[in-house]
Amino acid sequence: MARKKLQGQVAIITGGSRGIGAAAAALLAEAGAALVLTARNAEQVEAAAARLRGQGARAIGVAADVADPEQVEEVVESALDQFNRVDILVNNAGVIWPLEEVAETDADEWAYTIQVNLLGPFFMARNVLPLMLDQKYGRILNISSGLAVNPMVGSSAYCTSKAGLDMFTRVLALEIEGSGVTANAFYPGMVDTDMQVDIRSVDTSESKLDLSRFHERYEQGALISPADTARQIYWLVGPWSRSQNGVIFRSNDPAWLQQVDADLRA
Ligand code: NAP
Repeated sequence: MARKKLQGQVAIITGGSRGIGAAAAALLAEAGAALVLTARNAEQVEAAAARLRGQGARAIGVAADVADPEQVEEVVESALDQFNRVDILVNNAGVIWPLEEVAETDADEWAYTIQVNLLGPFFMARNVLPLMLDQKYGRILNISSGLAVNPMVGSSAYCTSKAGLDMFTRVLALEIEGSGVTANAFYPGMVDTDMQVDIRSVDTSESKLDLSRFHERYEQGALISPADTARQIYWLVGPWSRSQNGVIFRSNDPAWLQQVDADLRA
């Protein structure tokens, strides 16, 4: 682990109670950051924050649904009350449902995924940007997905939300260019979390959905570990990414992964 590169910084990680968000939170805390974790399940998010505190980190858990703009405001207020600043925002909270063809999809469920995966990052960014622009420093990282650019039958809400998130990232990056604040997006690849368990739980026998590659990757033991993904996120919000703005990073880019390894080893 590289030296404590985030000492004195404050990071908000949405969806920080488990999976990619919890692994990233642990590494950012180890790197010296104070953490504000959010998730809908109050017990789980508090338990995740308590684990970080148990390891000597400064951390709070705030139960909130990022789809609700008022709850998002409360998250940022809690961060300021507790730690006085926000340097890093990782928009990581995401939902995959519905995994169904459009003709059978419940409209409310479809809309909720857009609310969480696309409006959530907007609400979060809208609330932290004035602070970050004032302090002339900030890192906004949007956790997107390869499905933003690879249409998959049965995942119209998810694919659409992540495609929108990529464009949101690029427009935001243009607006804040030269301000000291940056916005980038990241495709983590297939990471071994509950979201992959959810995908594998879908019965596709009577639909056009083909989820075989998710089963194959799992059976081959080839899912990416959340700890590896966390290292990539650390690089993306740490000092190494300072000149990157409006970039979509991919975990299957070997040249970038080599750079991450070299930088974090140094
Ligand atoms: P996960 O294991 O299902 O965890 C999702 C996290 O987000 C949980 O902490 C969950 O807690 C929280 N969350 C969900 N909806 C929320 C909401 N409305 N408001 C606040 N928090 C919410 O998922 P993951 O695999 O770690 O995924 C993290 C991100 O990576 C997502 O954006 C996902 O789209 C992206 N991604 C994952 C993969 C993969 O293979 N795992 C691949 C590509 C992209 P609560 O349920 O308590 O709210």
